[in-house]
Amino acid sequence: MTVLGSPESSAAAPATPVRLVDSHCHLNADRFETDGVLVAEAARRVGVERLLVPGWNVASSERALTLVDRLPWLDAAVGVHPHDAAKVDDAAFAAILDWAARDQVVAIGETGLDYDRVFSPIPDQLVNLRRNLALAASTGKPAILHCRSATGRRDAQDALLAEVRSMGADAPRLVIHSFSGPVDYAVAMLDLGAVLSFSGLVFRRGEESSAEVAALAPIDRVLVETDSPFLAPPGAPRSRNEPEWVRVTGAWLADRQRTTSTALGATLVATYDRLFPSPRRAPR
Ligand SMILES: [Zn+2]
Repeated sequence: MTVLGSPESSAAAPATPVRLVDSHCHLNADRFETDGVLVAEAARRVGVERLLVPGWNVASSERALTLVDRLPWLDAAVGVHPHDAAKVDDAAFAAILDWAARDQVVAIGETGLDYDRVFSPIPDQLVNLRRNLALAASTGKPAILHCRSATGRRDAQDALLAEVRSMGADAPRLVIHSFSGPVDYAVAMLDLGAVLSFSGLVFRRGEESSAEVAALAPIDRVLVETDSPFLAPPGAPRSRNEPEWVRVTGAWLADRQRTTSTALGATLVATYDRLFPSPRRAPR
């Protein structure tokens, strides 16, 4: 893939590309079935050093594990998305429980709440969220949280905050995936210790508060992600976003943080390693 005016994407990549992470990309999705390994390797060549592949149900969690077994520098997360909450019963969740202890699995998710599309009834979403959060807490691995309210509302964000607060000191560490929401919600999540991960969603209309949130969050409490194959940032093919495009959101976040992409990149890798320690990565 060639990007005019971007030497980092040419065949002759610079010796020291900006370091980056993609904290959330679905290389286990159908759209990467034939070339997921090649796409991951292409991203690594342009500086994406860490790449986390989350599941959204049992089959996709299993595909994430298969992929990271082929590429040991990738990490997996296993869990059940709110869209699939009503489809995963206790017997199916037993597989997630089993896989969660594996070394390849650095987080539980993605899980969360979606009050926008409501593909699963809200009571089922809450049951699912609670068992994924409990699994994260029991394994000591962070929970990766999807949270979308209906347009113009904040009911999912408020419900998520209430769920986490109700766990008190038993709550797991949290990663807010593809951050979206008002500034006071971000502040409340930061107060609860969460790390905020920004995606191409920040460039969409209606997501203007994300710029303010990205400016106020401490530099060691932010991550970037693509949510590939979704949420293409400006410049990326809308048909299929890929991890290498995380550099667009990385540059945006560096501007908000009033730093350089190079300085931010080093911090992103350190934050990723602190949050998702893996025995499969040699100690630094
Ligand atoms: Zn996702």
